[in-house]
Amino acid sequence: MIRVRYAPSPTGSPHVGNIRTALFNYLLAKRYSGTFVVRIEDTDQTRKVPGALEDILDSLRWLGIEWDEGPERGGSHGPYFQSERLEIYRRHVDILLAAKRAYKCFCTPEELTEMREYQRINNLPTGYDRRCRFRSDDEVEALEASGKPYVVRLAMPLEGEIEFQDAIRGRVAFESRLLDDQVLLKSDGWPTYHLANVVDDYLQGITHVIRGDEWINSTPKHVVLYNSFGWNMPIFAHAPIIKGPDGAKLSKRHGDTRCLDYREKGFLSEAVANFIALIGWSPGDERELMTMSEMAEAFSVEGIQPNPGVFDITKLLWMNGHYIRSKSPEDLFDTVVSWHTSTTDEEYRGSEGCAALTAAIQSLPQEYVTEAFRLEQERVKLLSEFAEACRFFFVDEPEMDPQGVAKWFGQPYVGALLEKLEAEVAGRSTISAEDAEKIIDGVVVSLGLEKRAQAIHPTRVALTGKTFGPSLFELMALLGPERILLRLRRAAQFVPAAS
Ligand code: GLU
Repeated sequence: MIRVRYAPSPTGSPHVGNIRTALFNYLLAKRYSGTFVVRIEDTDQTRKVPGALEDILDSLRWLGIEWDEGPERGGSHGPYFQSERLEIYRRHVDILLAAKRAYKCFCTPEELTEMREYQRINNLPTGYDRRCRFRSDDEVEALEASGKPYVVRLAMPLEGEIEFQDAIRGRVAFESRLLDDQVLLKSDGWPTYHLANVVDDYLQGITHVIRGDEWINSTPKHVVLYNSFGWNMPIFAHAPIIKGPDGAKLSKRHGDTRCLDYREKGFLSEAVANFIALIGWSPGDERELMTMSEMAEAFSVEGIQPNPGVFDITKLLWMNGHYIRSKSPEDLFDTVVSWHTSTTDEEYRGSEGCAALTAAIQSLPQEYVTEAFRLEQERVKLLSEFAEACRFFFVDEPEMDPQGVAKWFGQPYVGALLEKLEAEVAGRSTISAEDAEKIIDGVVVSLGLEKRAQAIHPTRVALTGKTFGPSLFELMALLGPERILLRLRRAAQFVPAAS
């Protein structure tokens, strides 16, 4: 039975690459009805960042990456916080010490600095020179009895190669002599990443370790640990890094890298999950738009590409537009409104669109706002764009685009056009899109215009202030006679006196 894990350290809000690791593990678990474990690697208490744990769990929940075991859920292999497992690590260090696979090192920080300095000056390879590794048992006992603090180091093989089979990269080998005797237990009794990670992966029955490439240099140490304990290793798969469009490793310079920033900016979780999974993974066919269950069905570690994946924001926007378009009007309303009320994006919060939408939600019927969203659904690529795109539906006096006014209201027939429209609309209690079409066609004929567009464009400017937007007939149907009349009268003031 497959058991995989996502093992974040609570050192900050998870980035796209980190969440991709979670996603790959989750998809593999789903694919084979396995178990997805979340384990919090919080052994480095100095690097703990307040709020990071919440952001980790929030990112997973937002994307729909549900964990079977872990924080808040518990499970049969807990605790799931490494800080609650210290006793377990100490016990395991004792096993390694007894087997002489690890040793106590009494070197002080000053001695280690001196050692490094000596190595540097003499052009020697840097690293721990293993001076404590060959102490006699008596010597060690005496030092310990004197109360001297110590760390526990892993006794790495002194020669040969350490190799493992990586499911993505194939055979990976490291020369033993280039690897340090890694500290496993610090003098304060806390384990390092390497010890805690391996012990937990083993005790929690992890079968596959999919993680980022940045951990590949740690893997030979882990291999030695597995061997030292006499344990079978999980399958390792190191996923290549993510690059920005310029080919450099994805970083802040390329824009947002924090997963939750995408939520705040108005991306849908379906789009972000789909997009992130496809950075460096392919289902083996041409498909790009995939739901979580479709991805889970198609997922395999072999589908992870050995070359770095590229983060292409244009593609994400395209996907987001797709997922926005595929929502039903009711779902779209709920999604936009709940995003609108919870986003912390400052630019959005301070925008006129945001203020107009807040007012609209409070004072206009829900069907009106829903229909306004529906009419803009085709064009919008981000949830954050609805407020601005629909603003003209919500405010009494939409902003008039000066260029649109200059272009269309200068036409000699526009004064008459607005008057005729007013006459046609007055007295009606509702207007359907068909009615609106008939009204416009009637005015085209009575003004002797050559083309329908000559009436449509100025009418659009009069009613919306803009030169583009959804179907004029549909938007007229939504605005309704009362709003249309008010807007036509107001627009008349923008018509130059001479026309
Ligand atoms: N705690 C490590 C991290 O923050 C885990 C690495 C691993 O998956 O082994 O990513």
